[in-house]
Amino acid sequence: MANLIEGKIVSKKIYENLSDEILFLEKKPSLAVIIVGDDPASKIYVNLKKKKAQELGIKSMVVEMPQDTSEQALLEKIDELNKAPDINAILVQLPLPKQIHTRKVIEKINPLKDVDCFHPYNTGQIASGNKPYVYPCTPMGIVRLLEYYDIKIEGKHAVVIGRSNIVGRPLAQMLLNRDATVTICHSRTHNLAEITSQADILISAVGKRNLVTKDMVKQGAVVIDVGMNRTEEGKLCGDVDFWQVEQKASFITPVPGGVGPMTICSLMKNTFDLYNLQEKLQNK
Ligand code: NAD
Repeated sequence: MANLIEGKIVSKKIYENLSDEILFLEKKPSLAVIIVGDDPASKIYVNLKKKKAQELGIKSMVVEMPQDTSEQALLEKIDELNKAPDINAILVQLPLPKQIHTRKVIEKINPLKDVDCFHPYNTGQIASGNKPYVYPCTPMGIVRLLEYYDIKIEGKHAVVIGRSNIVGRPLAQMLLNRDATVTICHSRTHNLAEITSQADILISAVGKRNLVTKDMVKQGAVVIDVGMNRTEEGKLCGDVDFWQVEQKASFITPVPGGVGPMTICSLMKNTFDLYNLQEKLQNK
């Protein structure tokens, strides 16, 4: 039976350190979240972020804009937040309404305040093996989990299923930058099982329940499940057939309680790191 990788426990430890450090700051770190429209899932995510920030002593500001907001109005709002000295981190909740080009919006955010690491400056830094101002939240959360459980990355064969800009692509690059041998699989990949069964570290970021079955996993592999799906009964589950795969893996993340808690944790840590970076630059 595999060892559990418990993001819930790891994130709690990170939060304890963070709130201790923030407690002694005279000026607090601040996060601005922009939400456009009234997508119910987005509203839930934004509220969770706001609540967590408040718990840690991070100042949070939610900017709510109507569904019919023009691209120009959103770009102007971002410009205002870019220039605001009391805002350290800016997050634009995705997806955006159809009339707005997401790419233009992301490119408008000052890379120094780009808490999600979506701006091409920051993603380009990762792609070229350099440091961005902060790393993307979910991939960074996964790397922190591997580090916390002393799972060696260097020299290992990491197979990442999924190539989205939010998870798969940056994660693959971050593992490569840590000297893993990386294979990226996606919807057009042939012989998925043949590739995944060679993985020392297998990460699934797809969004398909039971995509990863026992026969696709090498004995003793580390299995990280990023997927968030629902069972017929409405329970949260990942991409991995957990009860079967855990018999073969050496380490495995549960869903819920694995990668999920690390994403919001990275967001808070990123806000704190951007605050420190900006304070340092100001005092130069
Ligand atoms: P996405 O839809 O943007 O990307 C999915 C990727 O899976 C694509 O690159 C696609 O090529 C690949 N794919 C689709 N079907 C496949 C198949 N049959 N075989 C191999 N690859 C296939 O999704 P995303 O935003 O990267 O999210 C992926 C999953 O992770 C979703 O379930 C999402 O809810 C979850 N997620 C969880 C967290 C978290 O904090 N736990 C954060 C972000 C995303």
